Amino acid sequence: MAENFDMIQKVYAGFSEKVSKARKILGRPMTYAEKILYSHLWDVPTTEFKRGVDYVDLAPDRVAMQDATAQMALLQFMHSGRKTVAVPSTAHADHLIQARDNAKTDLDRANDENSEVYDFLESVTQKYGAGFWKPGAGIIHQVVLENYAFPGGMMIGTDSHTPNAGGLGMVAIGVGGADAVDVMAGMAWELKWPKLIGIKLTGKLSGWTSPKDVILKVAGELTVKGGTGAIVEYFGDGTKSISATGKGTICNMGAEIGATTSLFPFDEKIAAYLMKTKREDVAELATQNADNLRADKEVYETPEKYYDQILEINLDTLEPHLNGPFSPDRAWPLSKMKEAAKENDFPEELSVGLIGSCTNSSYEDIDRAASIVRQAMSKGLKAKSEFIITPGSEQVRATIERDGQLKTLTDFGGVVMANACGPCIGMWHRMDNPENKRNSIVNSFNRNFAKRQDGNPNTLAFVASPEITTVLTLVGKITFNPETDTLKDSDGNYFKLDSPFGDELPENGFVPDLKGYLAPSTNGSSVEVKIDPTSDRLQLLERFDAWDGKDYTDMPLLLKAKGKCTTDHISMAGPWLKFRGHLDNISDNFLLGAINAYTENPGEAKNLLTNEYKIVQEVARYYKTNGIGWVVVGDENYGEGSSREHAAMEPRFSWWKSNYCKKFCSYSRDKS
Ligand code: SF4
Repeated sequence: MAENFDMIQKVYAGFSEKVSKARKILGRPMTYAEKILYSHLWDVPTTEFKRGVDYVDLAPDRVAMQDATAQMALLQFMHSGRKTVAVPSTAHADHLIQARDNAKTDLDRANDENSEVYDFLESVTQKYGAGFWKPGAGIIHQVVLENYAFPGGMMIGTDSHTPNAGGLGMVAIGVGGADAVDVMAGMAWELKWPKLIGIKLTGKLSGWTSPKDVILKVAGELTVKGGTGAIVEYFGDGTKSISATGKGTICNMGAEIGATTSLFPFDEKIAAYLMKTKREDVAELATQNADNLRADKEVYETPEKYYDQILEINLDTLEPHLNGPFSPDRAWPLSKMKEAAKENDFPEELSVGLIGSCTNSSYEDIDRAASIVRQAMSKGLKAKSEFIITPGSEQVRATIERDGQLKTLTDFGGVVMANACGPCIGMWHRMDNPENKRNSIVNSFNRNFAKRQDGNPNTLAFVASPEITTVLTLVGKITFNPETDTLKDSDGNYFKLDSPFGDELPENGFVPDLKGYLAPSTNGSSVEVKIDPTSDRLQLLERFDAWDGKDYTDMPLLLKAKGKCTTDHISMAGPWLKFRGHLDNISDNFLLGAINAYTENPGEAKNLLTNEYKIVQEVARYYKTNGIGWVVVGDENYGEGSSREHAAMEPRFSWWKSNYCKKFCSYSRDKS
């Protein structure tokens, strides 16, 4: 039985009635996204919400948190006064594992280095009735897809690629830790009612083209900002030819166009995946409710009347793509890569190919990659570039080990890293390029901004499907096109590779991960939350003082920022990530990236009491020690970006009292 099946039954029990009522209010047919949103409202609706305008309270069904963001979220939750989380919630230890040597060595090292964080997450989730996926069990979004996502549901996750669950027809939205706290504490969660982008898929994927190419094409068309404030809803006959995990890949990377989330309607592929992952009960319920788990038929007949924007993609003519470097929307059809490399001076030689991650490590992905490798090895060939495989979960890893694909990939020259984020989030101790030379890499992940994978600004990262990544690794060039180009076998004969093939799902089922998951305890009251008081990575939070009701007057200006002042400027990432559970220590990075409008120096502030220039936090601490509140003047869009609760909590911790700027990101405003 699926975990939390009672909650899923409850969602379906009320779904139809809620949708009917909403349809009456709207006086028109509904899209699938609208059905899920209206059926998850906190209050009973009385009117139609204005897209892109109204803020609405919602009631998500579940919460997922990754380890970097879960720390502060759960530290905040401890102040909620609740004995248990209000909705099913899980934490996943995936982001803090550095990829360097191989899965075992890297995991052992991570367990050693991060033990206090893992002990905290394990104890705090046990105390408050949440589940914990231990280090090595898998990456949050893959684990959610395998265990928790369900059609028609709504979840939030403290990670941008939470929309991965849209592959199973769920509205799944990436949020900050403070949002997760609201929902776990039993409060409503606020969202600006999204616009709707409809993407019609016609035709059928074939040959070297894969689901990844759908989203690479979409990113090229809509750009990194094209989906902002919108839910992307896929429809059309083409959706039916895409596996559930392929749909997950497409929704996962919808984050790269800035979309609130993406989703596919329920279909047989989704039902098949649910059954193969031992959720026959959910598949059966979803099948009974299938009419509600897609848009109304009138929407599909005249979509232009119901979506704010429509894009159509013909899968029959879609080419494999390589997107990059430095932006996931820089889309090159593979047939144009030779030209593109020449014109843009991209290093043609491929240094490393990386497959896997939460985006692309399904059974189908790996089976198709292995089919290419088998062909190559039968011709006496091995990988010319370094080849790294990052399975998305232990379930997938153990299954591809049992079925032989893993051996095929390692025989070819691949190195299997831990079931964790690793190179996808920059947790990659890369050994092959110590001088940080200019080089090209190709990965089947989702992001490719400068320094994202290996911290080297001279690495040009391209995003492609696992199949294309594998074939380019075989040839050692980013310009090879398997649809037209030939290879030389070990005897010197030329040949063309057959297009990849593979099973969507393992015939013999998945090998379950029996050790990686700690289910919620039924009574956590006696569990002690483990935080060493001398830790420099974790710190219990103290309540902020409430406003005393008096006006603030005569406050010094801590900093006037020039230009952008996003959350990255307010609370930098990189080496600071490890302090995410320690508000005092991470506050040392406060405004380090902001440019002082008077001196033009980043992270510098003038102490108006001593007339000295110091780093911002030193000045803020001086004022705090002397009981003086202070103000910040921002410029445009102060506080926009991810990891926003740190950007909101650090100033509060350091005695911030007021902000002035041309435009304030609403999230930072509300959470400050
Ligand atoms: S694998 Fe990459 S995209 Fe997926 S959760 Fe980890 S860092 Fe995020």
